Amino acid sequence: MAFWEQKSLAELSTQEWESLCDGCGKCCLNKLIDDDTEELHYTNAACKLLDEQSCGCRHYDTRFQHVPQCTAITADNIAELTWLPDSCAYRRLHLGRGLAAWHPLISGSKDAMHQAGISVQGKVVNEERVRDIEDHIVLWPLKDLD
Ligand code: SF4
Ligand code: SF4
Repeated sequence: MAFWEQKSLAELSTQEWESLCDGCGKCCLNKLIDDDTEELHYTNAACKLLDEQSCGCRHYDTRFQHVPQCTAITADNIAELTWLPDSCAYRRLHLGRGLAAWHPLISGSKDAMHQAGISVQGKVVNEERVRDIEDHIVLWPLKDLD
């Protein structure tokens, strides 16, 4: 059995935890909450540090110096981070769903994830180039696929 099937999220080593991130980049998109309905909307406006092609953070190790509001995802707070996309590996494991076939730990690379349209690759704009964030609401980050 793979380590993520043998252990709970709380039991993972730091290396195992980090390797679970599929690198989709969707958690780095700006999100809006409707004041009336409290509905969450994703936008295609990405954090200024997100690399739009690799879908990774340009300064991951020092990200909190550049973006203090960036969220560290941990076993302790995963239950509260309901804004994470359904496809997020941490959210999937927290909900007992397992990893998807396109996940890099299953498929061996990020290619299947990109081809399945799960990642942000080629779909986002840097938040610093956005004028009206409401014009950037999109549905594609909601996509999940087993
Ligand atoms: S600082 Fe890095 S990890 Fe945090 S939201 Fe921005 S791109 Fe994502
Ligand atoms: S949404 Fe989850 S799996 Fe995707 S990059 Fe963010 S933390 Fe990693």
